[in-house]
Amino acid sequence: MKTKVASTERKARARKIIARLKREYPDATCALHHQNALELVVATILSAQCTDARVNMVTPHLFAKYRTAADYAAADPRVLEKEIQSTGFFRNKTKSIIGMAQALVERHGGEVPQTMEELTALPGVGRKTANVILGTWFKKNEGRAQADQAAGPHAPGRPGEDRAGADGDRAARRLDLVFTHADPARPRRLHRAAPEVRRVRHQPAVPQLAGMRAPAPVDRDSLVATRRDIHQHPELGFEEMRTAGLIAERLRALNYQVTPGIGKTGVVGLKGNGGRCVLLRADMDALPVEEANAVPYRSRETGKMHACGHDGHVAIGLEVARRLAPLELAGSVKFAFQPAEEVSNGAQAMINDGVLDKPKVDAAFGIHLWNDLPVGTIGIMAGPMMASVDLFEIEVLGRGGHAAAPHQTIDPVLVAAHVVTALQSLVSRRRDPLAEAVVSVTEVHAGRAFNVIPDRADLRGTVRTFGGHFFEDAPRLVEETAQGVAAAFGARATVNYRRLSAPVINNEELSVLMRDVAAGVIGAGNVRQGVRTMGGEDMAYFLASVPGCFAFVGSAPKGGGASPHHSPTFDIDEESLVIGAELLTQTALRYLH
Ligand SMILES: [Zn+2]
Ligand SMILES: [Zn+2]
Repeated sequence: MKTKVASTERKARARKIIARLKREYPDATCALHHQNALELVVATILSAQCTDARVNMVTPHLFAKYRTAADYAAADPRVLEKEIQSTGFFRNKTKSIIGMAQALVERHGGEVPQTMEELTALPGVGRKTANVILGTWFKKNEGRAQADQAAGPHAPGRPGEDRAGADGDRAARRLDLVFTHADPARPRRLHRAAPEVRRVRHQPAVPQLAGMRAPAPVDRDSLVATRRDIHQHPELGFEEMRTAGLIAERLRALNYQVTPGIGKTGVVGLKGNGGRCVLLRADMDALPVEEANAVPYRSRETGKMHACGHDGHVAIGLEVARRLAPLELAGSVKFAFQPAEEVSNGAQAMINDGVLDKPKVDAAFGIHLWNDLPVGTIGIMAGPMMASVDLFEIEVLGRGGHAAAPHQTIDPVLVAAHVVTALQSLVSRRRDPLAEAVVSVTEVHAGRAFNVIPDRADLRGTVRTFGGHFFEDAPRLVEETAQGVAAAFGARATVNYRRLSAPVINNEELSVLMRDVAAGVIGAGNVRQGVRTMGGEDMAYFLASVPGCFAFVGSAPKGGGASPHHSPTFDIDEESLVIGAELLTQTALRYLH
């Protein structure tokens, strides 16, 4: 009964969102570029678990090359997979697109059909995709109504389920597919805070900071207002246009030399003075999470939220920039406002675009607001403090057949289950027990019917380490394990292993420097040693190139009850913003001293 209530609630919530969006955007159309129904089907399949903007980066080339359903049906999966790689889940999507196109050619003479029934019978096309096609291209509303009625999360035996999941929350989140995004043109004075934010009471900087040798006191009101403004307008990785615009505007007003477009949406601000150059890094991206907090500064973007604290990082970066701007510095300071941390490639994109050159960066510092620590504490340690992040995808290839005649098949479901179990032995039996590591299998996909043994099963998962032998051996171990287990059952396995980020390793000397500064800011007793996590951070790329230090600034509200990072109820104690700003300002000054 419980699931039924939850699903009714989800449906009601999705309906409410649809009604609101229809009211607010009466002229809304699909944000996915397309010229015909086939292009729209392909773009919609690509958009599963991905942003429209990223899909739109891939499709011009794709549509130019593949013009008909027959072209896709005849595509080489390996080539197509490469062509759509930047949209994520590319292997599943390749399979969906080719399967869908083959069915179009076989059943519909290559034309896209116009009914919910026929559409959802196509491989890879679920009701949500069908809704988009019917509503956007064929201007039929029946699809949407039907989806509402049939949106039970786990109804068995439904044909054509969208591969990427169909629960109500995600369904609601997918709505930004159908409706264009709001305010495409950036209004002037865009960083003006919302009225409720502008009413924030004036409060002086935290009393414990009073005795510090700060260049100018932290402007707490402006810090909080900036954070809340950005919190209300979250943007996903490589889509941080508004945030980047706001940052560039502020930095220019402070007389920084501003270079936008570093690493796509990244912004660099430089106050050059010759001498040594210190880089301060702040990440800007939000997450595809629907905010569940009832606060005045709640996210205004459906399905997007600053649930990791990066809104605070941007506000802190801007406040540090403001405080350093009027000072006579002994060297140069460079701010790197980085896009796309959550998808683990924004830092690399900025480095590729030269953020560490001209002037050459000598050291890099950054912070992460951290809800595992109470506000008023800071965690800093030398050496590895955040883990490497690897992604593996395993295809188990068997032979399908009747569930009642397993001897005529090679059952990939059973093989996949053994692979999952065997992978757990890597940490327990193949790794030095004194070295930290995690292996997690997080996705298992196989089968579409209770009475059919499928011909393949797909697994995905992650390996986390702090470097060392296991880090080096992991790709080989995962591959050998999957292939060896599969071979024992007469099946085959192929493994795609990718490194997303290296461990974050703090420099010994600069950790001491930052820890000293932290002790000055909050008292030595509040500086915590040994705070580290198997989570990953692409600050790793900066710290692999130049020495530096990354610190955790406690942000859990006083009195407990902190929500974890990435959760829909995530929020911070805003006093942590003041501490973070003070820590980074003083660290930069101490380094350049
Ligand atoms: Zn995060
Ligand atoms: Zn983060």
